[in-house]
Amino acid sequence: MELETLSEHVGFLTTRVKVGVLTNQDRCILVDSGLDSSTAKKILSLLGREGLNVVGVINTHSHADHYGGSSYIKSKTGARIYSSALEAAIIENPCLEPIYFAGGAHPPRELMNKFMMGEACSVDQIVQEGKLEANSLQVDIINLPGHSPQQIGVLAEKTFFCADSVFPPEVLEKHQIIFLHNVHDALESLKKLSAINCEYFLPSHGEPLKKEELEKLVSLNRESIKMVEKTILENLSSPLELSELIARVLNQHNMSITSYSEYHLFSSTIKAYLSYLQEKGLIEFKVKNNYPLASKKPSQLEL
Ligand SMILES: [Zn+2]
Repeated sequence: MELETLSEHVGFLTTRVKVGVLTNQDRCILVDSGLDSSTAKKILSLLGREGLNVVGVINTHSHADHYGGSSYIKSKTGARIYSSALEAAIIENPCLEPIYFAGGAHPPRELMNKFMMGEACSVDQIVQEGKLEANSLQVDIINLPGHSPQQIGVLAEKTFFCADSVFPPEVLEKHQIIFLHNVHDALESLKKLSAINCEYFLPSHGEPLKKEELEKLVSLNRESIKMVEKTILENLSSPLELSELIARVLNQHNMSITSYSEYHLFSSTIKAYLSYLQEKGLIEFKVKNNYPLASKKPSQLEL
């Protein structure tokens, strides 16, 4: 791991996700904090060698690979912790994530791993879209919901930290069906990304991109979403049981899931698409013989 610089006050570290480093003399604020305390420890020792003290962490969203190191960093440095309100609910109570993946039930142990549940961290300041003064640095917080309910991106100097609003081609290729909470919001956030003007865009799971490269990536991500939407609709000409639909969609995208927790990530995403299609007036839900079914609306069948 090394500190890579993008402009006078902005750099980043590469962990499982990119961690932004916004500096002001000998102090810095991080954008995300890595998966866990062991990653956070490495981050702190590297920044220590650079003569930087961490005074804040802006968490882009409540997925463990992004916020899991915050608690360790806060305990060692007293850093001020920032996040949006809904994401704070999970960052402060990480058990909520396996609970919602389990459909509200007490989760099976397969869902209670460190990738689903980071270490709890109290959030000191709820942020909203707009200017944020942090560590005497002005940053812009931009709402990017879709991948998670209240994900935020951070614009600092000439760099926009995109969080998980956009994924590089190799991630799209590997996962085929990218994790989404709200398909409509994710598409709107991609539009929003295209409208931002700055020198670099840094997706959490990618490398810094220039505006032109970002535009290409936004198109790829939009196409990937549209492809999944098409596959789902094609399967709903007649009513289909939901777990059968999930299996068919995964098979048609050549995905072979073997882990129980991974299955829940994909099935939750496919359900997000179903809600989206229902909102668009294209499908409906029913229960028959105690099976939950989805199908195209009768008015859509001849289309
Ligand atoms: Zn994420």
